[in-house]
Amino acid sequence: MSISSGHFSAVIVAAGGGTRAGPGLAKQWRTVAGKVVLRWSAEALLAAGARELIIVVGEDGEALAAQALQGLDGWRAARGGATRALSVQAGLNAIAGPADEAVLVHDAARPFVTTGHIDALLRALDGADGAIPALPVADTLKREGPGGLTTTSREGLWRAQTPQAFRRDRLLAAYAAWPEGGEPTDDAQVVEAHGGRVAIAPGDPRLMKLTYPEDFDMAERLAGGARVTRMGQGFDAHRWGPGEAVWLCGVRIDHDQTLVGHSDADAGLHALTDAILGAIGEGDIGDHFPPTDPKWKGAASDLFLEHAASLVAAKGGRIVNIDVTLICERPKIKPHRQAMRERLAAILRLPLDRVSVKATTTEGMGFTGRGEGLAAQAVAVVEI
Ligand code: MG
Repeated sequence: MSISSGHFSAVIVAAGGGTRAGPGLAKQWRTVAGKVVLRWSAEALLAAGARELIIVVGEDGEALAAQALQGLDGWRAARGGATRALSVQAGLNAIAGPADEAVLVHDAARPFVTTGHIDALLRALDGADGAIPALPVADTLKREGPGGLTTTSREGLWRAQTPQAFRRDRLLAAYAAWPEGGEPTDDAQVVEAHGGRVAIAPGDPRLMKLTYPEDFDMAERLAGGARVTRMGQGFDAHRWGPGEAVWLCGVRIDHDQTLVGHSDADAGLHALTDAILGAIGEGDIGDHFPPTDPKWKGAASDLFLEHAASLVAAKGGRIVNIDVTLICERPKIKPHRQAMRERLAAILRLPLDRVSVKATTTEGMGFTGRGEGLAAQAVAVVEI
């Protein structure tokens, strides 16, 4: 019986702390083309019909996974072990489905898996105990020994990639028989050692494992073709009324008036939220937070902006830069500009140089000039 899509589960091992790709976050939590590395393969496995998707994480990994996979349904996290082998087994044991179901085990650091790869693996698994994507070795192989270099035949040698496909019960049985303390370098090795037959499916250079900083450069280039840059603009105005402080771009400024509105009337945040929603074609702020809903009365507008940013992230995009212009005669904005930029950068998790706040008067003309109200406009650039 052949295995059709929807009759497999998947485990992504994201518990490693590999830092050869550079300092800071482990490579599975870094981004390629604005999307967290783990998310690339999680989306692909779910799109290919994975019935269950287990993300195996290390300590602190659950929160990182929840953030990276925001808006994606059909996955859950499992805590990994001290070694990759223990992490894989933790993932396999977290699957609730049939014991003999096909399972794909994948390294989080290989982002570019596709439905085509997965279908080919499941076909190759038919009648075998395991199936792996593999590429024949193309380079000449040298072995360095005490006497110098010798050339090794590459005849019959393959480079194994992931995802690798197995019957879950057979992979677990193979792991149970694996000698304690020996660390296999992939899961197929465990099945081979247990006497299982592992079939080869076509590998793909794009299933490359991100290991070194230059791998990320290549991954950016591979992903780059599919990305587009989008721009949105927003405008908002609120009327001045009696009060003692005003919220602008998330910063409270003491003033002899306040802006009147259903929420905190932060016109800067409202214009910026609309700009981001505009860039991703998600309507306007009123669609997401109706002013008729009492829930938003007096609300801090930070949450409107956070919501817009989360929609960008859910689409796999990233905000490139934003630029806000506040239009009023008073209060003086300049003394607060830096605090506003820092607040916006914090809400959007952007470097400060991608966040601009500017201000202008209208030289006494129009409603802002007459002091009837304050206006704000904003643009946002998004890459998806
Ligand atoms: Mg408004």
